[in-house]
This record gives sequence, C-alpha cells and structure tokens, in this order.
Amino acid sequence: MDQETFEVMWEMSDPAADTEGLFLRATQTEYYCDERPRPHPLESMPDFKYLPESSLILGTKTGLTFTTLNIDTPVYLNYLLSRFLGRGGSIPADDTPVHAVVVCAGIDARFLGGVEDPDIYPIRGQTVLARAPWIRFGKMMSSSDGLWTYIIPRRSGDVIVGGIKVSDDWFPTPRAETTLDILTRGLALCPELVPAEIRDKREPTVNDLLPLIIEEGCGLRPARKGGIRLETEWFADHRRNRKVPVIHNYGHGGAGFQSSWGSASMALKLLEAAIAVNGGEAELVAPLEGTKKEESLGLVRGVSH
Ligand SMILES: Cc1cc2nc3c(=O)[nH]c(=O)nc-3n(C[C@H](O)[C@H](O)[C@H](O)COP(=O)(O)OP(=O)(O)OC[C@H]3O[C@@H](n4cnc5c(N)ncnc54)[C@H](O)[C@@H]3O)c2cc1C
Repeated sequence: MDQETFEVMWEMSDPAADTEGLFLRATQTEYYCDERPRPHPLESMPDFKYLPESSLILGTKTGLTFTTLNIDTPVYLNYLLSRFLGRGGSIPADDTPVHAVVVCAGIDARFLGGVEDPDIYPIRGQTVLARAPWIRFGKMMSSSDGLWTYIIPRRSGDVIVGGIKVSDDWFPTPRAETTLDILTRGLALCPELVPAEIRDKREPTVNDLLPLIIEEGCGLRPARKGGIRLETEWFADHRRNRKVPVIHNYGHGGAGFQSSWGSASMALKLLEAAIAVNGGEAELVAPLEGTKKEESLGLVRGVSH
C-alpha cells in the first residue's frame, strides 16, 4: 500500500506535474534508538543510505537518509476535494439512495451508525506549526523513552515540529506543557529551526522559537486493533428492495496519508467486485443473514450475498 502510494505521489510531485506545488521533495534523515533489521523497508526510497556510526546522534543506533516528499496537507486535501467535485462528484443529502457506500470515516467509524467498530481507538498526536522557510530538509529521531521527534518542512515554508503518540487519549485541544516539550526536543534535533543570525551570535533556546509559531495543533490518529479494515459488508435497503455493498476502508492510524492511494485502490477493487456480484442493482429476494435493525447508514446490515 505504502509503495503504491509513494509511486502515485512521487509522480504528482514531479517538477513537470501541475500538482508539484502540493509537495516538497527533500532529504529526510532518520535516527533510531535501536538497531533496525536489514534490509530496511525504506531501502527502496530514492538516494537511500545508511549513516555511518560517526554521524549518529548520541543515544541512537541506526541512521538512514533518503529523498522523500512532504505533503502540504491542508492544500493537498483541498486539491483532492476540488478534483472530486471537478470530476462530477457531489456531497449528497443524507437520504439520497445509493448503489454502494465506501466508509472512510476515520475515528468516526467507532460511532457511525451501522458501523460502530469497537476496535477503533485514538492515538493522540500534538504538533507545532512554525514559520521557518529556511528549513528544506526533514528529520526524525526515536528515543528510548518511546518518544518520536520530527521536523517536517512544507513547500509553503511552514514547518511541522512534533510530536507525541498517546493511545486512548481523546483530549481535544493542545496541551501547553506538551508544546513546550515538543519545542525542546525539536530544537535539540534541529537547532537550524532558529534563524542563522541568532545562532551565529549565541546558543539558541526554545524562546527563540516562540516568534516563529503559527499555531499549536493536535489530532487523533484513527487506529484500529487488528489493523486497517478493508472488506465488504452487505446491507439491505428495504425501501428500494435492494442489497447494497458497504466497502470499509478505515483504521489507518498514523499512516493514512502514506498508505492512501494504495488503500484506495484496494477499496476500489472491492467495490468493483461487489458491483459485479450485485449487478449494480441486485434485488433483495430474501432477508440477509444476520440482519439487524435499521441503522443510520439508512440500511440494514447483513453478512451474506
Ligand atoms: C499529529 C498527527 C500526525 C500525523 N502524521 C502522519 C504522517 O506523517 N503520515 C501519515 O501518513 N499520516 C499521518 N497522520 C495520520 C493521518 O492523519 C490519518 O491516518 C488520516 O488522516 C486518516 O485518514 P482517513 O481519511 O481514514 O480519516 P480522517 O482523516 O479522519 O477523515 C475522515 C473524514 O470522514 C468524515 N466523516 C466521518 N463520519 C462521516 C459521515 N458520517 N459522513 C460524512 N463524513 C464523515 C470526517 O469528518 C473526516 O473528514 C497523522 C495524524 C496526526 C494526528
């Protein structure tokens, strides 16, 4: 999934592509606090190299460098929406009759009527968005206390500094003490965040980062016990006497961007197979096995074809 997604995005980020502006291609350097098994899954990335021991940060045991792409996510998501609408997609009212449903509800798959997946749980993240257009590289470091610190540059010149990963924490707004911790770790990993004219004169401090802050952010990674749910479930639409395929495509945790195109193409295959079975408009000749009461998907769940 990740490989297919990378190939799609690599093409989209090509300097000749009209979508290039959504991405920043940049060198990424990663330091891990443990020995990583070889071959490393990232060995297929452009310009991949293991760092020599002499280049490792204190407390880390493996270092990698490669070229990757960084997404300007707010711009990218708006691009996807405009592409969807531009190709005839629409956002229908709730009770519009449908031939199929693809569930990409993220964390809401836990609460969405008819889905209500109890295996969905949040892994809370928190970040700081800073203005630092001089940063044109990405960095990541894992530490033995389980923390991951990262610097993600965006094409716009904004930089994401992160982060944390806390399971089952639903807290909806940034915590001030976490912001301070992120800035402290971010500065240690990447002193270049502080403008060169300050670093030329003295040791940079966290206070030097404060004027660069655009906003603090937090979000809930939609994790799922058992991993991503990619499967077809059949529901009965008694109003139209039809059975309707529901394709589940959720539970991507902290990797929903990097697996998105690969995951979508698997969901599309499921959808095409379901429509082939269903003929698009198969009649509901008998109640579906395991049928439940009508739920807010507007359909009744079943488990058979
Ligand atoms: C701090 C942080 C850092 C991250 N970093 C990375 C990273 O570096 N790389 C990476 O790949 N991923 C990263 N992620 C994870 C990534 O954001 C998620 O995996 C991804 O957003 C999941 O995509 P999704 O479409 O499944 O769910 P979401 O992005 O949550 O989208 C689900 C959408 O469905 C909508 N929705 C829900 N219910 C309904 C309904 N009934 N009707 C209509 N719409 C509905 C919601 O409003 C929402 O817009 C990060 C996440 C966080 C919080």
